[in-house]
Amino acid sequence: MAGIPLFAAWLFALLPQGSTIPFDDAGKQVLELVDRARPKNVKPSNELRQRLEPLHERVRLGGLELWVPKRALNEKLAAKDGPSAKEVQAHAAHLVALQREWLPRVTRAKDELAAASSALDVLERWTREFRGGRFPEARPEITAARQTVERLFFRRALADGAFAPIAIVAPTRAQFIGTIGAATQVDPTQRPRLHQEANRRATAAHLAPGCSVVAWTSSPEHATRDPLRDEAIDVAESDQNFVHTSAHLLSIELIPMAPGWWLEGLALCDTIALCRADETVCTGHADMHASSSLPGAPGALGILLWVTRHKSPFRDTFSPAYFAQPLRAAWAREGLQVFDLDKVEPVSRVEPPLLGRSAGIPSGVANGTDGAKRGFAELYRAYCAGFVHWLDQQRSKDEQALLDVLCAELARHPYDPQTALSPLYDISERLLGRSLGASNDPELDLEAAFVASLAAR
Ligand SMILES: [Zn+2]
Repeated sequence: MAGIPLFAAWLFALLPQGSTIPFDDAGKQVLELVDRARPKNVKPSNELRQRLEPLHERVRLGGLELWVPKRALNEKLAAKDGPSAKEVQAHAAHLVALQREWLPRVTRAKDELAAASSALDVLERWTREFRGGRFPEARPEITAARQTVERLFFRRALADGAFAPIAIVAPTRAQFIGTIGAATQVDPTQRPRLHQEANRRATAAHLAPGCSVVAWTSSPEHATRDPLRDEAIDVAESDQNFVHTSAHLLSIELIPMAPGWWLEGLALCDTIALCRADETVCTGHADMHASSSLPGAPGALGILLWVTRHKSPFRDTFSPAYFAQPLRAAWAREGLQVFDLDKVEPVSRVEPPLLGRSAGIPSGVANGTDGAKRGFAELYRAYCAGFVHWLDQQRSKDEQALLDVLCAELARHPYDPQTALSPLYDISERLLGRSLGASNDPELDLEAAFVASLAAR
């Protein structure tokens, strides 16, 4: 008999740590708030966005939507009023600005560009009305502007029951955990992916296609027994986190067949363009050392799970200049310097190309220490952003940015799970007459030309 409590304690010690985060309890509370907000004659939907909609102020901005909870949980799982219009004004303005970055990446037609640009002007002015507690009404001219932008990005104006990609705001830790928990109650197949220890301090989570939740707070690093406690995030970091997450939402919708490194480079460049810096950890994981306990992304992109800020030579002041200085410092004829971030010492050099069709994680890194993986992840993050920015600076024969030319063609390729290799490589050869990551000749290859620009000090 006396053995039972001991056995129970032993069993408890074996439970995965994720079980201490109350995804289910908080999720049920959020769904209860949803049910209270839902009109009585409407049945609860099995589709996540439709299910969550009644709880949220839905701010439709064309290519993206901002969802703001009308009621949100506190750390005791009690409900309080959600954020005011004024508190989300900057987010709404950022979502409009983000779409402006994308206009030349989806169309070259001058009339279409002009119409969408004017429509974004209207929406931008509307976001300035987000001043007090109440959300401003979407007047007919606002709806017309939104539909113009939708027609550009989605080829049709969206009916009320259709959704553009959605960024949901979670003003508290409990609301963030609860929104994740609500998503896994609606779709239990997502439990293994989302009920993760890494979400204890993460500041963003991808709930379902076209839907992410962004947290305004983190949780104290050592408060493992108190996972709903809020820890403030600084405003600049919070803005970057919101924009970076939203940039991913829009890019995966518009160019789903782009390689992962291309999407990461774009998210970094767009965040830097809007916020003047990007110090985010893309997985939304706010710890000093990124965890490898997250489910792995495939191929070379999995390395980004090792991205960390701690002791990285690519952090603090370099993102506003798209990492030009540390990338140049890392370059040598023998390859790019990888640092072991745990020992803070150089360990190996990796030779470009790093972005080609068959490029993966260099074997020296894959078989190296965790510190070397972190070091390579930081280098790779900066390299992707640097390359995408460089493409944005280069012009084609008809004066288009090469980045726009390549994105616009990628945008013509719908998502196809049967195609493992991104069409980007063929597009580059066909439209620009240069390969990407296939040779070391700057005349023939875009990545080689980028590397040559690093070498030319
Ligand atoms: Zn990212």
